[in-house]
Amino acid sequence: MNSLVVWSDRLLSYDLGDHPLNPVRVELAMALARDLGVLSRPGVTVQEPALATDAEIGRVHRADYIEAVKAAPDDPFFRGYGLNTADNPVFDDMHEASALVSGATLAAARAVWSGSVRRAVNISGGLHHAMPARAAGFCVYNDPAIAIADLLSQGAKRIAYIDIDVHHGDGVQEIFANDPRVLTISLHESPISLFPGTGFSTEVGGPDALGSAVNVPLPAGTRDSGWLRAFHAVVPSVLRAFGPELIVLQAGADSHARDPLANLRLSVDGQRAGALAVSALSEELCGGKLLATGGGGYALMYVVPRTWTHLLAMVTGDPIDPATLTPPSWRALAQKRFPGEDFPLRMTDDADVSFQPWQPGVTQDPLDRAILATRQAVFPYYGLDPMDARD
Ligand SMILES: [Zn+2]
Repeated sequence: MNSLVVWSDRLLSYDLGDHPLNPVRVELAMALARDLGVLSRPGVTVQEPALATDAEIGRVHRADYIEAVKAAPDDPFFRGYGLNTADNPVFDDMHEASALVSGATLAAARAVWSGSVRRAVNISGGLHHAMPARAAGFCVYNDPAIAIADLLSQGAKRIAYIDIDVHHGDGVQEIFANDPRVLTISLHESPISLFPGTGFSTEVGGPDALGSAVNVPLPAGTRDSGWLRAFHAVVPSVLRAFGPELIVLQAGADSHARDPLANLRLSVDGQRAGALAVSALSEELCGGKLLATGGGGYALMYVVPRTWTHLLAMVTGDPIDPATLTPPSWRALAQKRFPGEDFPLRMTDDADVSFQPWQPGVTQDPLDRAILATRQAVFPYYGLDPMDARD
């Protein structure tokens, strides 16, 4: 299977300094994948990205915002556009570093759309909170949206964006809210307890695209079994009805129990199962055309490298057996980067990823109520019955 991994060490320059989004997580993920042989499998191309151009970025972001991103590093007192805040500090070469992340996701998207590869991935991407004229949630340019906008300009009619980051994929949703060609689905911790405070089930898209935004807000504390029950109760039915030509997966790893910024309780195994479920849907519905990105993930050494190595393995061929040991070479690097911290010995958290399928009926369980609310909000737009478990 031909696949593309877009990568350059220059992507590590998206570095916000003393900040949770530390590029060491991406460095350790690529190192783990490399040491397990994932990047040297047959049919895998590793390609250097180029910077996205202002015109490409400008399909999503306002020209004055792009100019502000370029100008801010030269002005220590810069204010506005969400920049120079605690979440979005200004850093050297901010425009270039952000445009490179977008360029990497763009290259991945084009390779899949053109058919030159079946799947492609940019684990440094997935900056889903960036708004047309505002940095937000550690994100400067919205690379998934820039890639989707590019595919639309090439004639794409039905792109599905599935966001499994623990935070709502608000930027991508807002950018395409009124465009029926783009279905955005986000599973995330409830906006009641987590940034960015949006992603309620009642957000279903703009007046010209009702049903094109799907939100599954999950109660804090949701574990693998609940997450997977919610995914399977909503996502396959809507996707089958929509009929995507290509699926974009934002695979943020911050839904993990060890993540310091959020409150879901997934394991690496649960995250792996979620990504594999998206992969299976891409095989079923669009010939395997899948573009994957990273996203959030702040358990920098213990979680993100394993979860994204599973993602890279899925994109480049067969999934890795969770029982696989982490290689000694990688353990040495992990210890060097995080002296004295526990490092994972295996590619699993030993979690059971079985789950009970959703069933209709009166329930006091907050998770099942959330599932039903989403089904009631969007299923009718697709001719599906919210109360019928077969839908
Ligand atoms: Zn996140």
